[in-house]
Amino acid sequence: MSKAISQVPFAQNEPIKTYAPGSEEVTKLINTYKKMYAEKLEIPMIIGGKNITTGEKINIYPPHDHQHQVGYYHKGGIKHVDDAIHTALHAKKQWNELGWEHRAAIFLKAADLIAGPYRDRINAATMIAQSKNVHQAEIDSACELIDFLRFNVEFMSELYAEQPVSDAGIWNRSEYRALEGFCFAVTPFNFTAISANLPACMAMMGNVVVWKPSDKQIYSAHVIMEVFKEAGLPDGVINMIFTDGQETAERVLSHPDFAGLHFTGSTNVFQGMWKMIGDNIHRYKSYPRIVGETGGKDFVIAHPSADIQALATALVRGAYEYQGQKCSAASRAYIPKSIWYAVKEDMEKQMKSIKIGSPEDPAHFINAVIDKNAFEKCKTYIDRAQKAEDAKVIIGGQYDDRKGYFVHPTVIETTNPHYESLEQEIFGPILSVYVYEDDQWEETLQLVDNTSPYSLTGSIFSQDRYAINEAYKALENAAGNFYINDKPTGAVVGQQPFGGGRASGTNDKAGSKMNLLRWISARSIKETFVPAKDYKYPYLGL
Ligand code: NAD
Repeated sequence: MSKAISQVPFAQNEPIKTYAPGSEEVTKLINTYKKMYAEKLEIPMIIGGKNITTGEKINIYPPHDHQHQVGYYHKGGIKHVDDAIHTALHAKKQWNELGWEHRAAIFLKAADLIAGPYRDRINAATMIAQSKNVHQAEIDSACELIDFLRFNVEFMSELYAEQPVSDAGIWNRSEYRALEGFCFAVTPFNFTAISANLPACMAMMGNVVVWKPSDKQIYSAHVIMEVFKEAGLPDGVINMIFTDGQETAERVLSHPDFAGLHFTGSTNVFQGMWKMIGDNIHRYKSYPRIVGETGGKDFVIAHPSADIQALATALVRGAYEYQGQKCSAASRAYIPKSIWYAVKEDMEKQMKSIKIGSPEDPAHFINAVIDKNAFEKCKTYIDRAQKAEDAKVIIGGQYDDRKGYFVHPTVIETTNPHYESLEQEIFGPILSVYVYEDDQWEETLQLVDNTSPYSLTGSIFSQDRYAINEAYKALENAAGNFYINDKPTGAVVGQQPFGGGRASGTNDKAGSKMNLLRWISARSIKETFVPAKDYKYPYLGL
């Protein structure tokens, strides 16, 4: 392979299966779900390709049925963190020396395995342990993950092809080396695709990785490692450990060979890790790369000219799909008084038909929130709004955790532009609405920009081009992903590179060339064909 300048297959977004009622594809997927649901999966850590078990077994329960055990994982300790670091560093040389085409082939094969034989298994795992319905699982653990892998291979080859110009008599080259040392991936519960992509894209660029998934996503993380193994990823390149986050971070981030952090999760955790890196900066062999995609308080602002039905639909889908547990979920809306009644009526009409329950029934649009903590958090915000003088629950507000952690899609309307649920990330199916006077459009744009510390996603709904332009300018830094007449969720790899600024992250855009750049360190090479043999320049006149 190294005797050719290879071209990688052209990346295209994976088509989303519809899982229409009665279709063969939905029957197959639900059968896989049922089979897995009835089993008790034992999940070991994987270090150096070996299954690592410990005495400490932690049970896994689906959020929608918290008394039904679907398996358990083996919890590790500091020894396993050390083993994972050591093993990764040991695997480094061989992995680094492998031609990039081999790395590309491994991850392209992983994409094809997910698109084909593993599709139902990875979707069912995501449905079971993260409580996603068939569509949410399909767009995440199948399609987005496949897209990450295929597009990143294409971006990698484009990066490698970027070469400097050369003057006469010399040849300049750029070589894109992996980072020296090992990398650390810490991933969230809410997207199987993100969880796989964070370690995978670092490995794709030639790095070795210690990966700590969220303990709420271990069930599908296990399937990811099965896929990587079958795709031919050599042992030790990605090492998956189930250890305490804080303890692991303290160990990893004080290691001299720590080279880069790829994090997705909450803002506080990321800031804590950044501080640790600062405290340890004198220990490292190189300045580490820090990439973090964190929280959001994503907005929808409507202009009086907005299309009512399109706006109501975007609010219902944008706020409630996957129970509002997408970092991009619409969680605050600013609606002008002149259209609010009609928007509310349309939302109520649409939300009446929403069904809530287990993902085993594809008719359920809403499933459970991830765990008891998430349930309690939603409950607290709803209860406080029920009693508040400046807010009221106008749609939904019910919750029930007898079987699973179910929270009904809820709308809180408030007269206070700084009401708590307009400012704080809840990460549940709760949308807060502030109704503004139509003549306060410009002031409301400022309010949207200044209300929260985050800047992840946001939408403007308007049919007036001047208003769109005003919002476009006023909200320039309010969102890393900005939507015009669309919901703020559902970014597609290769089409809307995803990430935000301010307290929402370093905005390195997952699934883009910008992100891959963070995991390489360029070396410039100059070769001179006929070197000078006398120090004297002509200007010296000697
Ligand atoms: P989380 O911060 O609780 O956990 C993320 C990861 O950090 C997990 O692996 C967890 O075990 C680990 N962790 C927890 N405490 C730690 C500590 N003290 N030290 C080191 N590691 C620690 O986040 P979550 O609940 O899994 O995910 C939800 C959050 O992620 C939300 O805030 C959401 O907005 C954010 N998110 C952001 C994006 C984005 O692209 N911006 C995407 C997905 C999720």
